[in-house]
Amino acid sequence: MSARIIDGNALAQTVRNEVALRVRRLADRGVQTGLAVILVGDNPASAVYVRNKVKDCEEVGMVSTLDRLPADTSEATLLARIAALNANPQVHGILVQLPLPAHIDEHRVIEAISPAKDADGFHVSNVGLLMTGKPLFRPCTPYGVMKMLEHAGTPLEGAHAVVIGRSNIVGKPQALMLLAAGATVTICHSRTRDLASHTRRADVIVAAVGKAALLTADMVKPGATVIDVGMNRGADGKLCGDVDYAGVSQVAGAITPVPGGVGPMTRAMLLVNTIEAAERCVA
Ligand code: NAP
Repeated sequence: MSARIIDGNALAQTVRNEVALRVRRLADRGVQTGLAVILVGDNPASAVYVRNKVKDCEEVGMVSTLDRLPADTSEATLLARIAALNANPQVHGILVQLPLPAHIDEHRVIEAISPAKDADGFHVSNVGLLMTGKPLFRPCTPYGVMKMLEHAGTPLEGAHAVVIGRSNIVGKPQALMLLAAGATVTICHSRTRDLASHTRRADVIVAAVGKAALLTADMVKPGATVIDVGMNRGADGKLCGDVDYAGVSQVAGAITPVPGGVGPMTRAMLLVNTIEAAERCVA
């Protein structure tokens, strides 16, 4: 059996088209949706991510600003910049690209962003709202995964979902979102004993680890939905996920590829978070 491929590129395009429509509707009411992005330093991967985010904004008609600050920017300067954006009514979403240079306290920076403009959904207020079932901003990657599961028609109520990884940006919020959707959720991590004994019982597996070929065909129940969040470089230098795609796609019912899976959806969900924030301002 060969798994159905959940095409992240195609779904992300659909999401962007929907966002573009909502941006136009707000523009008709005199509101230009705005996202402010701050990049500190010259990490090449971060520069690519930020460029793509700005490009996505252009595609859907949002106004985006990009502050490129030098690597030796002080924490005080960055916090002052964030305070100015918090106070600017034309800015609906603020994103500070992570990681930050070592001399800047990441936690303090995230907490400085207004929870009402926290487009990444990392502020503790937004984490708490997600935890208590009243989400405002949801972290983009797990939010995108939920859209993919919905699009794939994967039943979640009563399903057993296994999330591999417990980071604050992917694993934990993913588990909360699956729980809210009615799944019975197991969270696995580096200290989990016998990972395969958990994944083999799962109807849905979300792998968010950062280790190529961590999940192999013998660890997957036939027909399960497998979502690959991981982004790794294989021995051949090519981008790959955490899932042994060739093997697992012979067993799974549905699967996301890497590239072209969760990555494009993460980008698209940043736009969704931003338009939702702008719509809340005029509601
Ligand atoms: P992270 O903070 O490094 O977390 C990785 C998690 O994997 C940790 O919870 C860790 O457990 C767990 N882990 C490590 N080795 C394991 C093993 N052998 N078995 C089971 N669990 C194991 O990473 P992250 O930020 O969550 O990102 C995870 C992956 O997703 C990375 O490859 C990242 O590049 C990718 N990612 C992709 C997107 C996208 O848009 N596609 C977005 C975000 C992240 P401990 O907690 O015990 O250490």
